[in-house]
Amino acid sequence: MDEEILNNINNLLSEKKNIVLIPHSSPDADALGSCLALYHFLKDKNDVSVVSPNQYTEILNFLPGSEEIIVYENDKVKSEILFRDADLIFTLDFNSLGRARNLSNLITGSSAKIIMIDHHENPDDYANIMISNSNMSSTCEMVYDFIYEFDNKKINNKIATCLYTGIVADTGSFRFPSTTSKTLKIGSELINHGVNVTEIFEKLHNNFQFKRLKLLGSTISNFKKIDELPVLYSSISEDDQIINDFKKGDSEGFVNFGLSVEGIFCSVLFIEKKDEGIIKISFRSKGDFKVNIFASRYFNGGGHEHASGGVSKLSLIETEKKFIADIKQYLNENYE
Ligand code: 5GP
Ligand code: MN
Repeated sequence: MDEEILNNINNLLSEKKNIVLIPHSSPDADALGSCLALYHFLKDKNDVSVVSPNQYTEILNFLPGSEEIIVYENDKVKSEILFRDADLIFTLDFNSLGRARNLSNLITGSSAKIIMIDHHENPDDYANIMISNSNMSSTCEMVYDFIYEFDNKKINNKIATCLYTGIVADTGSFRFPSTTSKTLKIGSELINHGVNVTEIFEKLHNNFQFKRLKLLGSTISNFKKIDELPVLYSSISEDDQIINDFKKGDSEGFVNFGLSVEGIFCSVLFIEKKDEGIIKISFRSKGDFKVNIFASRYFNGGGHEHASGGVSKLSLIETEKKFIADIKQYLNENYE
């Protein structure tokens, strides 16, 4: 880490502080794992809270410290007091305020110093201290480096479990191109701290309700191919969700199945969110096709080169139609 950043943070942490840690909305394992690892690291000497913009998947309730997470939507008054009194805010696993959704006004309205730790491209300029590196596999890998720089003796089983979970989730269990030898060394170090590799795998991947398996089945059978393009897409309508008792996090990973087909290099999943009046879109790709550029150009989104998201305010059917037209045009213009 940059010497100047190190000194700045050392100064900020030299006295007891009120600290608020924030993941992006609908936080995943990397976002909550990094928040909770920092929570365990900082809480000996500081007053620390984790405030999530909204409810997160119950799958992640096994993360040590998750019972301490405050969900803004459910606890607005308490959250607002924490923001009012905060000296330091860490924003974790996101780099544009929009991804904190309803917390973004509280962040900009706060007099606290803001520290960003994140691994997405093109960070916005809202933080006082920016630790941003899009070559990193995960925010959890960055938080490992952060903790290591300040006091590696404090890494314990709880911190290791949170960090390992975020790293395996964001690297697809050390398979995605962002996985480096350093990522694996950190994984190895965390296992030395007693992380239970099998238990984390079971909690993340084999811990669902039967109806979620049925939803996976219908999503897979809904996949369609765009004529003459190496692109597959599927959708989950509001009805599919009702029939299958949909819970937050249930569709995590579904979009990846499109990439399991030979010759396909882009897979897309549309999820109807009638309560928010939007279609949430997940984009995945392989090879040269950078899906974050497409997501930001056509669907007000962004993310990583091979894993991005976006939104549409059209109906599900209109969104699919727009997507087909957009991707035909985009691939024609950019890829021969
Ligand atoms: P997912 O498809 O799993 O929801 O999101 C994949 C990745 O895309 C996330 O890790 C995040 O980097 C990015 N992402 C998802 N939704 C959005 C969005 O609405 N805006 C932006 N800028 N990025 C998003
Ligand atoms: Mn991440």
